[in-house]
Amino acid sequence: MKTYPNTFSENFISTEIRTSRPKTLTTFFLRLGNQYPVLRSEFLKLIDSASAVSSPSEYFYDSLRALHQGLPIYLRLIFMALEKLIPRHVADVLIRYVINNLLTPYFLLRDENAFKKAMMRFQKNDTGIILDVVGEEALFLFEAENFLKSYEHAMEMFGGKVAVKLSSLMPSSSFRLGNYKENKCVLKKKFVHILMLAQKNRVSVTLDAEEYFKWCLLIEDVFCETLLEREWSNIPDVGIALQAYRRDSFESAERFLAVAKKRGCPITVRVVKGAYWDTEKVIADQSGWKYPLFEKKDETDQNFDRIISFFLQNRKYIHVSPATHNPKNIAHALKETRGDYMNFEFQVLYGLGESVRRALSRNKIPVSVYCPLVRQGGSATEGLAYLVRRILENTAGNSCLLKNL
Ligand SMILES: Cc1cc2nc3c(=O)[nH]c(=O)nc-3n(C[C@H](O)[C@H](O)[C@H](O)COP(=O)(O)OP(=O)(O)OC[C@H]3O[C@@H](n4cnc5c(N)ncnc54)[C@H](O)[C@@H]3O)c2cc1C
Repeated sequence: MKTYPNTFSENFISTEIRTSRPKTLTTFFLRLGNQYPVLRSEFLKLIDSASAVSSPSEYFYDSLRALHQGLPIYLRLIFMALEKLIPRHVADVLIRYVINNLLTPYFLLRDENAFKKAMMRFQKNDTGIILDVVGEEALFLFEAENFLKSYEHAMEMFGGKVAVKLSSLMPSSSFRLGNYKENKCVLKKKFVHILMLAQKNRVSVTLDAEEYFKWCLLIEDVFCETLLEREWSNIPDVGIALQAYRRDSFESAERFLAVAKKRGCPITVRVVKGAYWDTEKVIADQSGWKYPLFEKKDETDQNFDRIISFFLQNRKYIHVSPATHNPKNIAHALKETRGDYMNFEFQVLYGLGESVRRALSRNKIPVSVYCPLVRQGGSATEGLAYLVRRILENTAGNSCLLKNL
């Protein structure tokens, strides 16, 4: 076993990340959005509506005028000068250009050439790729069918590792509120279909973790029960994401270990913090339910470390992938590996985690990039929910990425 290098401290990782961070337009907007929350919500609304309205600049200036009081005088003057100096049709083109510039660093185009280029770039740096067919919960049957086709296409064309959102395969129209058994049965069939496709194409599959109230526990049950069935008990290339912001996540971690031991074949767990913190809070408050997530960021961070330590002590059964951009959590995980990276890799998000990826691969630490795939020209609408989650996350005051800009 290699000895653990002392240099992998939080400070070392932070410095490595900072020195490899490119300065982009996105960085500028993330900073601005963090400083002025009113602007953040206007940016989000603008991104949301830009593809639907005929003149995004008119929409933008109108909404800015309404919230002028919430902005500092220098920003008000800049926006007023821009409105006076730049003709509407030029401003529309500029806004669409900026939005595209904000979007493109987060997505990979779902075409073979773009994919091959990215693959070559990452392979040169010993970095793996996980493909994510961008999409959210399907509303109608035809959407769910399209998602299934997209997963099949991604597996056939690109291979490697694929991330799957089970909610995108089950249309809301066939979701029976209050009928857990029936929903589980439908979702199990979808998961089995995905496993068959994965086997046929020799691809490894990981299920994404989704919203708590509707999907989270359902997906875990489907995953655990299916993998204990005789037909699926000996496939190794299968995994699930676990959200450390859930108060009950450690019980799930123990459950995954028990399942891996019982089937006698390892499973992979991508440990994340969780991307739906704000939404879950609103749903719980509106419905009068007990909030199932930690309410202090420190608690989530500590729980993340606890789960990573637990899985690393059980590496024979659980292949663990810490998915974070936070130097503190990265340093903790590295310390726990003691320099032995067997059955272990970090995972980062395409675009957002680039500096972390560079810092890790420069130090020969295994890392893969989670790449959301969108169709050419489809980015503005297809990736919207994903993008909004990323913007909310990275303009929040306690975001680790913002601290490292
Ligand atoms: C490769 C990869 C795959 C991912 N897959 C998924 C997935 O399948 N499902 C999913 O839900 N997310 C997923 N995510 C997103 C992930 O959950 C985080 O939202 C994101 O990575 C930011 O966390 P961080 O550790 O990088 O940054 P940090 O800035 O250190 O942490 C931010 C996170 O802390 C938590 N947090 C913030 N404020 C509070 C608070 N007041 N109380 C408690 N907790 C708080 C939230 O989870 C927030 O996202 C993935 C991330 C990566 C890198």
